Amino acid sequence: MKVENGHVTLPRIGRVRLKERGYLPTTVPLRSVTVSERSGRWYVSLSVEEERPSPVPPMGETVGVDLGVNALATVSDGTVIPNPGALLARQRKLQHLQREVSRKRKGSQNREKAKRRLSRCHGKVADLRKDALHKATTMLARTKPVIVVESLLPANMLRNHHLARSLSDASFGEFVRQLEYKCRWYGSRLVQADPFYPSTKRCSSCGNVKAEMPLWERTYSCPSCGLVLDRDLNASRNLAMLAASSAESLNACGGERFMPNGRCSPVNQEPSIIGVTNV
Ligand SMILES: [Zn+2]
Repeated sequence: MKVENGHVTLPRIGRVRLKERGYLPTTVPLRSVTVSERSGRWYVSLSVEEERPSPVPPMGETVGVDLGVNALATVSDGTVIPNPGALLARQRKLQHLQREVSRKRKGSQNREKAKRRLSRCHGKVADLRKDALHKATTMLARTKPVIVVESLLPANMLRNHHLARSLSDASFGEFVRQLEYKCRWYGSRLVQADPFYPSTKRCSSCGNVKAEMPLWERTYSCPSCGLVLDRDLNASRNLAMLAASSAESLNACGGERFMPNGRCSPVNQEPSIIGVTNV
């Protein structure tokens, strides 16, 4: 097992050229190498041992983050992280390729070929989404000291038949997974809201909670105080406020403990929690 710039030497297989280069660790000791295949492409993943300096928490403000259907994420400081254009284009192509497969005769060569094209496109879409999520989570974990996100109820996942929503649900799990380890790297703190906290239905200005907030309503208008605000920005501001109100109580009981009747729980001990975008 050896890694050089541009090549990796594997047991039994030998020296293999790498398509991507320049970022693999070549100077630290290798612990293991895993080779895998996904939709016709081969990947090598390396496990290395490297010491990280203990992180200094970033300065800046506490933020809430809402993962949406239209935008990738809306941050309570007003930042909107859009879905990359390449991802949207590929998603349209995916629908086209799906139709192509169903048009071909079952068992035919052409159907097999169309299936392979579809599978490659699926892989590309997954990569593009993951890449966009990585950029967003790195930016957040590096610059925000406290990041509040929603939680997902398993029941919500089952109830959810909408394609766009189920895609964003899948993204949410990955989003939280990345934030968890990056917050540890960069010294920031991840807080996951109580699953019953009405971040979408609550007014971020006066605290009034609406009975209904259907998905198609893109703007939050408050009947009580007259606030009119983008739906996702309102939700992210509610999440950010949650951290402020929970900060004293969290500190009071030692910081990292789950509180059954509190509004927030630090996420560190529960790495498998999956979340939802809008409840
Ligand atoms: Zn209001």
